[in-house]
Amino acid sequence: MSFRTDSSSAWHTLTDKAALAQLKSNAGGLTPEEVANRLQHYGPNKLPQAQPPSLLKRVFRQLNNLLIIVLIIAACITALMGHWLDFYVIMLVVVVNTVVGFVQEGKAERALNAIKHMLAPNATVLRNGQRSLIAADQLVPGDIVLLAAGDKIPADLRLLQTKNLHIQEAILTGESVAVEKNSETQKLTTELAERRCMAYSGTLITSGHAKALVVETGQRTEIGRISGLMTEVNELTTPLLQQMTRFSRWLTGIILMFAAMIYAYGTSIQGTSATEMFIIVVGLAVATIPEGLPAILTITLAIGVQRMAGQKAIIRRLPVVETLGAVSVICSDKTGTLTRNEMTVTSIVTGEDLIHVTGVGYAPDGEFYTAENVIEIENLPTVEWLLKAAALCNDASLSLVEAEWKTTGDPMEVALLTAAYKADFVVDDLHKHYPRQDVIPFDAEHRFMATLHHDHDGHDFIFVKGAPERLLADCQWQQDANGENKPLAITYWHQQLDKLAASGRRVLAVAMKPANAGQQELNFGDLKQDLVLLGLLGLMDPPREEAIIAIKAAHAAGIQVKMITGDHAATASAIAGQLALTNSEQVMTGNELNELDDETLRQKVETISVFARTSPEHKLRLVSALQANQHVVAMTGDGVNDAPALKRADVGIAMGRSGTEAAKEASEMVLMDDNFASIVRAVREGRTVYDNLKKAILFLLPINGGESLSIIVAVFAGLTLPITPIQILWVNMVSSVALAMVLAFEPSEEGSMQRQPRNRSEKILSGLLLWRITFVSLLFSIGIYGIYLWSQVQGASVEESRTYAVNTLVMMEVFYLFNVRCLHVASWSIRQWFTSKMAFISLGLVMLLQLAFTYLATMQQLFATEAISLFYWIVILGIGIALYLILEVEKAIRRALTGRNITQLSTSNG
Ligand code: ATP
Repeated sequence: MSFRTDSSSAWHTLTDKAALAQLKSNAGGLTPEEVANRLQHYGPNKLPQAQPPSLLKRVFRQLNNLLIIVLIIAACITALMGHWLDFYVIMLVVVVNTVVGFVQEGKAERALNAIKHMLAPNATVLRNGQRSLIAADQLVPGDIVLLAAGDKIPADLRLLQTKNLHIQEAILTGESVAVEKNSETQKLTTELAERRCMAYSGTLITSGHAKALVVETGQRTEIGRISGLMTEVNELTTPLLQQMTRFSRWLTGIILMFAAMIYAYGTSIQGTSATEMFIIVVGLAVATIPEGLPAILTITLAIGVQRMAGQKAIIRRLPVVETLGAVSVICSDKTGTLTRNEMTVTSIVTGEDLIHVTGVGYAPDGEFYTAENVIEIENLPTVEWLLKAAALCNDASLSLVEAEWKTTGDPMEVALLTAAYKADFVVDDLHKHYPRQDVIPFDAEHRFMATLHHDHDGHDFIFVKGAPERLLADCQWQQDANGENKPLAITYWHQQLDKLAASGRRVLAVAMKPANAGQQELNFGDLKQDLVLLGLLGLMDPPREEAIIAIKAAHAAGIQVKMITGDHAATASAIAGQLALTNSEQVMTGNELNELDDETLRQKVETISVFARTSPEHKLRLVSALQANQHVVAMTGDGVNDAPALKRADVGIAMGRSGTEAAKEASEMVLMDDNFASIVRAVREGRTVYDNLKKAILFLLPINGGESLSIIVAVFAGLTLPITPIQILWVNMVSSVALAMVLAFEPSEEGSMQRQPRNRSEKILSGLLLWRITFVSLLFSIGIYGIYLWSQVQGASVEESRTYAVNTLVMMEVFYLFNVRCLHVASWSIRQWFTSKMAFISLGLVMLLQLAFTYLATMQQLFATEAISLFYWIVILGIGIALYLILEVEKAIRRALTGRNITQLSTSNG
């Protein structure tokens, strides 16, 4: 089966009719049956995913790690020396480490992939004459799509109708300036970049709108031919991870050098045999290198991303997970983010009357009444025209489907349709009676929308709706109760506007004028003369309850919240008051902002939280001003013009439902529910992830420190090693990793949203954190040596003493884990102990492993361990508890002395 005569790519040479004919389509779109057939024939409209790296490659990636290489070399040398037992144990550890790394990496990647699917793009299609929103991968050649500013082109398209259409085609042509498009046929030889009547998959519409025919999908699109594959790569790395990787490399280098020196010292000065010294040096290297750390950090981040997705915040760029925890200002749009975006027309103001409208929601049940009486709209010609204009100058739809009112489009426009239905207009009939000829779509820059219509009796009309200040400036006339024009009473209208806005209503003005007979096109110039104001509409859009709570939470967490809206100043201030924003009565408008120089803006921006009648470029200035004040700024946006501000912000947040693809592409995070409360929840998760990363570092480094210190002391003091290198390998690769894994799953600590945001320049490895690592390392080596030497004095064999030492080390790790789990609060509260199921699972696992290590015959053989008595277990437990108590006391003393806790440690320089 074929739907077209050939698969040439010369679509730009065909007229629109010929292209439609070739694809056996028509202006109303395909039927569902044809779509199903074609979908089967052409396959879904997506590029095949790049093949994931092969199993072997992934295994090799695990092996390509400095520590593992060191271990493999060490294993080979031990084998050459004939130490077969050591060889087997080292190789076993290499295998275990590779498998654990492999499984964790797979898990982290799966978590990120699952999230990617949640951001699949949509397309508006016309099928069977009906407009609907579908997943872009369901498009087939022959489909008719409707495009607007901010859309990403979903397939290769032949443009049928365009209006002021500009497309940025940088991904294909490298040219970042948007090109103007139209529907005119072109010569065969026209270069791709010059094909004005074509729009190519993956490019972005910067302005205008269009109707177009899908000509190529999936791999047959231009971008599909170039790349053939989805090129998206989601690197599992962040600045902190890079910092840690660099640190590990640097540490490994130092350790190897140090090991060489110890080797030289041992063999030459102490006269230890080369073989024995070699094993000791391998032990030292293994003891010091934090091998489990990178895997733990990666999995912690991946879990954070997964948790955020559960809270409706989809992370597009991984590093932002860290930045989120440091956010100190959230700049939010009003409509839909802080408010519910469930609009209802509640008032209509004309030149003579104030009319109230009853009913809530989109169901058209309600009445119109003045102060005294219910009124019939048919007796008020001005209101009739006003409602007709509002319904016709409108791109939304409202229809009754299975006893439920279904809507598409901007909720404010839907509210206008509901009001029209309440006055007994049938919107479909209105559209049939007054077909639309042309449109100037709404744009946040000019704040109005206008449409051109004619009726079947030879009349032509222009309807305009938009921000009142804008329309009041353009109108010269208003209509009286009889439908006659009279000069505009500007003071009256401004009073009415202020009254409506002060009550928190969003206000919209509606105007009309006769058009020239037979006029086909609408231009800005047409709106300059003879515009007649019909009236004002007051719409209610209540604040979201959860936003009020979230704003309070943000304030408690030391985060400022700013509202940046296109709405009227008085409306913005009233809503800000209801949301309990700081200084809600002080509003700065876009015009006032224009007057300020950067320095003054920097000062003002600290105290003002409401910005009204702003345009997207004001958002950019506000982000820059806040950043100049050292703030870490999160900024929301939805339109194509918001992209620069979203890119500039530290955390650009696009709206998942109402946002354009352009806004999503520019942002780091997408909110699936457009809800302010989700931003605050994501910040909380961000703080938790950062805490958990820090906890993992704080947990693993002192253990390595303690182990290495024990070996170094042994070598320099000429003592027997209290723990053999092979035993250290066991502890690091098995017990430590299992325990540290707990930290990746830690829930938010109590009070995580009661502290100030982290300083953006904070370095994780500095100052007091290093003190803490040194202090704990010391305690660990004292514990290890303590039991080793004490048991020796008691007459234990070296093997027995080493078994005690290893178990003491693991026991101390367990207690240290519980100490580290609570960075900010004392961990003695029993509740803290039971907040993580994971902690107990790992604990049980580690205990079992240690029992096996101590009592199983094979393990005893492999690791040279001995069974130990209950008495010693009690002593070991005692040492664990002692460590725990010392660290809790240290935590309390430091907090009392400095009023600071460990999260703040690293901000200090020492
Ligand atoms: P926010 O930026 O908080 O989402 P907003 O939605 O109020 O604010 P815009 O969408 O930029 O901001 O709207 C600004 C003004 O433009 C509105 O107050 C309204 O008067 C007018 N307006 C909004 N949508 C339309 C529309 N579809 N048609 C005509 N005018 C509109």
